[in-house]
Amino acid sequence: MRTFDHVIAGSERPSHSGRLLDVHDPATGHVYAQVAAGDPADAADAIAAARAAFPAWSTLPPTERARWLERLADAVEARLDDFAHAEAVDGGKPYALARDAEIPRAIANLRFFAHAATQFASESHHGQAGLNYTLRQPLGVVATISPWNLPLYLFTWKIAPALAAGNTVVAKPSEITPATATMLGRLANEIGFPAGVLNIVHGLGPDVGEPLVLDPAIKAVSFTGSTAVGKRIAALAASHLKKVSLELGGKNPTLIFADSDWRDQLDVIVRSAFQNSGQICLCGSRVLIERSVYAEVRDALVQHALALRVGDPMDSDTRMGPLVSQAHFDKVLAALQRARDEGGHVLCGGHALDRPGWFVAPTVIAGLGPDCATNRDEIFGPVITLQPFGDDDEALALANAGDYGLAASVWTRDLKRAHHFAARLHVGMVWINTWLMRDLRTPFGGVGQSGMGREGGMEAMRFFTEAKNVGIAL
Ligand code: NAD
Repeated sequence: MRTFDHVIAGSERPSHSGRLLDVHDPATGHVYAQVAAGDPADAADAIAAARAAFPAWSTLPPTERARWLERLADAVEARLDDFAHAEAVDGGKPYALARDAEIPRAIANLRFFAHAATQFASESHHGQAGLNYTLRQPLGVVATISPWNLPLYLFTWKIAPALAAGNTVVAKPSEITPATATMLGRLANEIGFPAGVLNIVHGLGPDVGEPLVLDPAIKAVSFTGSTAVGKRIAALAASHLKKVSLELGGKNPTLIFADSDWRDQLDVIVRSAFQNSGQICLCGSRVLIERSVYAEVRDALVQHALALRVGDPMDSDTRMGPLVSQAHFDKVLAALQRARDEGGHVLCGGHALDRPGWFVAPTVIAGLGPDCATNRDEIFGPVITLQPFGDDDEALALANAGDYGLAASVWTRDLKRAHHFAARLHVGMVWINTWLMRDLRTPFGGVGQSGMGREGGMEAMRFFTEAKNVGIAL
């Protein structure tokens, strides 16, 4: 049985306690590996290693830090297939999705922030009072805590800017999907990445994540995950007045207007609902449809959902794999039962597949209003609801109903309407006639229950640095 150990101070090591957690293959439900079950002692080791590495790493010229990130990117690229395979087994996502999108994106994250290291500049203000310039200095040791849905993609999205800005890192991947982070740590050791600069501790959130958040040596915490855990982290970090960035859940609206090219865009709209089995924080789970085309769009969406090939993640024809874990599978099935209890009409799906593993059929539900739990709570599975709207005001009210505010997509050919909605939707990101169009320079994050702070581009470089202003009399 494979084991994923911690990566601390340039070497792999088991937990002090020797304890392990099982890691499952979601396509079969079987245990295929084990991961070190870290505890506060392991977290402390990782922090000590990161502290020891900080002086040398933070004073390395940015061009040198950039070279290390580039080398790491090259090393992952050389083993892209291995990484994609590992991601597919660990998380149950289609191998093709991991190979063509997620692992390339992880590589792009490393390269993007390698460049950012060399391009990061600060401001100066020349005025009557004299000259002010702003130093942006690394914080020290920072913690990153990431989820299971896009394991390496989100892991690198955090560690790359943290390292580029000159910090050393203790990273905690999800205990549910520890494979690719461990492989990355291993590769870093193989290419001679300076020891202690990137440390990876595995384990459960309360056992490893909380000690990281609470340790005074950790100067900032970058977290992506559920809103409930994000709030817990914010509360713990507040007692130390620690910097936190929180990328949390979503319940994103997809607004389809009668004037849009929705027929030509159905593939993208369906992808926005069901990619990675709906386990992407940006998936559009509430589809709002202008009443005059409601029946037509509804029928087309159901037809497309029924045609999605659900199955073995390794099969090249598979478009949708299983959910990630037994616990998540149970949660999604409970949400489907609740939707029925609330009076929802299940137009397709609504059930598990009769096969081993944690497969749920793509599900479309109609007949539920904005106030029911099905339309308010994040389900994070292959489940969408449909709601008709009569005019722009109603569409906006429905889109903004709820506590989350991560992303929205608006499908219309009316430019004026598109800008009107872009300005008024309570979200951090709006896509017009597209979905998940990412440019790594743009700010990424949500409002309300979807989080606090922004990642991406210079926003991330600023988060991982402290601004110090220097004023000089002239
Ligand atoms: P989760 O909150 O359960 O876990 C995320 C990470 O936090 C894991 O590494 C986990 O071990 C750790 N953790 C758990 N309890 C902790 C604690 N008490 N202290 C410190 N760390 C703790 O989330 P998940 O189930 O892994 O991921 C799914 C959630 O993530 C969904 O809500 C989804 O919307 C959200 N998400 C958000 C974004 C975004 O960018 N906004 C991106 C991806 C996923």
